[in-house]
Amino acid sequence: MLRGPMNEFEIIAEIFAPLASDPGAFGLKDDAAAIAARPGFDLIVTTDQITEGKDFFAFDPAAQIAQKALRVNLSDLAAKGAKPEFYLLALTLPGGFTREWLENFAAGLKTDQDRFGISLLGGDTSRGEILSITVTAFGFIPAGKMIKRAGARAGDAVYVTGTIGDSGGGLAIFRREKHTLSELDRDHLIGRYRVPEPPVTFGASLRDLAYASVDVSDGLIADLGHIASASGVHIAVEAERIPRSTSLRAFWGDEIEAISRAATAGDDYQIAFTAPAGLDGPFTRIGTVSAGEGVELIHQGQPVPVQKPGYRHF
Ligand code: ADP
Ligand code: MG
Repeated sequence: MLRGPMNEFEIIAEIFAPLASDPGAFGLKDDAAAIAARPGFDLIVTTDQITEGKDFFAFDPAAQIAQKALRVNLSDLAAKGAKPEFYLLALTLPGGFTREWLENFAAGLKTDQDRFGISLLGGDTSRGEILSITVTAFGFIPAGKMIKRAGARAGDAVYVTGTIGDSGGGLAIFRREKHTLSELDRDHLIGRYRVPEPPVTFGASLRDLAYASVDVSDGLIADLGHIASASGVHIAVEAERIPRSTSLRAFWGDEIEAISRAATAGDDYQIAFTAPAGLDGPFTRIGTVSAGEGVELIHQGQPVPVQKPGYRHF
């Protein structure tokens, strides 16, 4: 049993049951949820965990922690071409939580449920030393249509959605890196660290567009490396083309070191994909696929050595 202002049954009934809008969740009053199988569709499933001190700070607003927990999963579904529909929530709570904290946490989930059109299906609630949240998200896709990491071919162009490095900039601010940013720029970067903006709507259209795709969570170069190895190709990224926000440029500047840092920082939750050259849309062309292996960052026609292509836990 949890020792806190509420026990886990009260938490489920009072905090989470109102979020279980889908009838298949049975109001969180049963042992499991039931989702009708859809003939002709594949169920796309992904899970991601976020942990206090590593993926967020305990002092972050509870609503934003909830949104981050959800959105780091939605970016995976989007990268696979799936529209999210349901999620499960496994929550490890330290003893010192308050009802207000939980209510704010649920409000963050509700905001994103409404925005993305998803429903809570169930989960688990337990006690632990530090706050940790695991979301499992589900979406359906016409059978066989999931966009894989494998599938890139020589001659494809490489594209990325959104901007890269903002979250890394936000984290650097928390780590007290010196800056002279305006409040607006500072808030933008911190905002992206706390609440990423995965291209959820665009993701569903990607399955008619992309040959290979990955969500950018560990770092642009590292994640493109996953496409390169899964597809058995070489990817060249032109540093100057990597989209960076004005806020990040005001912070880190435009030197190749700044670009390289943005491209390896991670926590972006954008989508990198390969597709035919010459496409127009809510994305930026950043490179090309050719025969070979590995990823190269190219600056003024020359490869730039990348020390650490992305984040690693171990
Ligand atoms: P059990 O003891 O059989 O694991 P629980 O008491 O943990 O069952 O869960 C009861 C119901 O509440 C289940 O439907 C479960 O999915 C749901 N549930 C438990 N914790 C959460 C949570 N954090 N978020 C959403 N649903 C939850
Ligand atoms: Mg349980």
